[in-house]
Amino acid sequence: MEKVMSVNCGSSSFKFKLYEMPEETVICSGIVERIGHDDGIFTIKHDGKKETKVLPVADHGYAVQIVVDALVEKHIIKSIDEIKATGHRIVQGGAYFDRSVVFNDDVYKKIESLIPLAPLHNKAHLVGYDAFRKVLPNTPAVAVFDTAFHQTMEPEDYLFPIPYEYTEKYAIRRYGAHGTSHKYLSEVGTKYVTSKHPRMIICHLGSGASITATKDGKCVATSMGLTPLGGIMMNSRTGDMDPSVFYQIASMTGKDVETIFQEMNKQSGLLGVSGVSNDSRDVAQKAHEGDKRSKLAMDLWARRIADYIGQYYVRLGGCDLIIFSAGIGENAPEYREIVLERIKEALGVSYDKELNNKALGVEMLISKPDSKIKVAVIPTDEEVMIARDAYNLCLKK
Ligand code: ADP
Repeated sequence: MEKVMSVNCGSSSFKFKLYEMPEETVICSGIVERIGHDDGIFTIKHDGKKETKVLPVADHGYAVQIVVDALVEKHIIKSIDEIKATGHRIVQGGAYFDRSVVFNDDVYKKIESLIPLAPLHNKAHLVGYDAFRKVLPNTPAVAVFDTAFHQTMEPEDYLFPIPYEYTEKYAIRRYGAHGTSHKYLSEVGTKYVTSKHPRMIICHLGSGASITATKDGKCVATSMGLTPLGGIMMNSRTGDMDPSVFYQIASMTGKDVETIFQEMNKQSGLLGVSGVSNDSRDVAQKAHEGDKRSKLAMDLWARRIADYIGQYYVRLGGCDLIIFSAGIGENAPEYREIVLERIKEALGVSYDKELNNKALGVEMLISKPDSKIKVAVIPTDEEVMIARDAYNLCLKK
């Protein structure tokens, strides 16, 4: 039994989960938020208890130190040497990485070179990795890429019809995201499929959301694009639309490119259309109270997902299993229902409303036995995939 930490570093936060491997037992988990502030927040969950502390957290290095100190203080580990490997989530692996790899100078440089494609994320991941290396200099680290699972796409699925020079010179193409989640779900979903060549449409519907079509456990197509802005409509992101919307808004309002880009990421989607909130629960609540724009926002959201499912049904030449996952997909029967209602006739999907209502954060089939495509709710688990790769690449004999 060896302890492995799964790490997710953002620009101002750092989430962790400590596992006993290879058993995959979660020992504890937590988050340091508001890094760089005098009122940083450190939360740790252990032994069924949750503790929160507010304290100054100057930088990522200090955040890592706080976590390691807490683990020793709580006798979760005797010394930092007990952490035998770390796995780091990396949002953008570009075309370099089609699987997880052990960190070395070359890997570091490649992740660094991809910062222009994911400025906030990749930079923060490296800051986090550096912080870990200082505190745990002898512990091997693995990079686990959100984009790796999507590297099996064919050019016709990942190229954009822009002047080819942009693709070649600036590596502008579809990379997708949530790959670790889609991979996990495609693996768990296999048990529901009897076909020798399983075809799945996987809907990861969180505040960021993406849909992936998989065949034989490999990604064939995915909805997010160059960045997580592409694909289906999300809580605050537009998803795909006519690119001239960007041009038109710029020329009519005089706003600069950066401002409009931020609006399309943070002020659009469910929030933009409803004007209510970027939390899907608030939008549903308002829609129940009769708010027309909230209802419209939900309808738009569902329509875009239904359209993608139809597109991927064609892309795969059929489908054995549709999976709903992530915050909305796992917990919100109403949101699943408005999608299923829009695809049921064309695809011969028949689902059980009672089962759908019961599926709250638990894995279960919600389709009826006569449904042409099975439909399952499966909670995702990106952290365990990160811990698995860290264990397999660094410790497995
Ligand atoms: P991310 O990791 O992208 O932030 P999550 O997968 O954690 O997202 O999903 C967060 C979203 O899930 C939030 O918008 C939240 O409102 C939504 N969500 C969680 N539970 C429910 C629910 N019962 N009904 C509707 N939306 C829900």
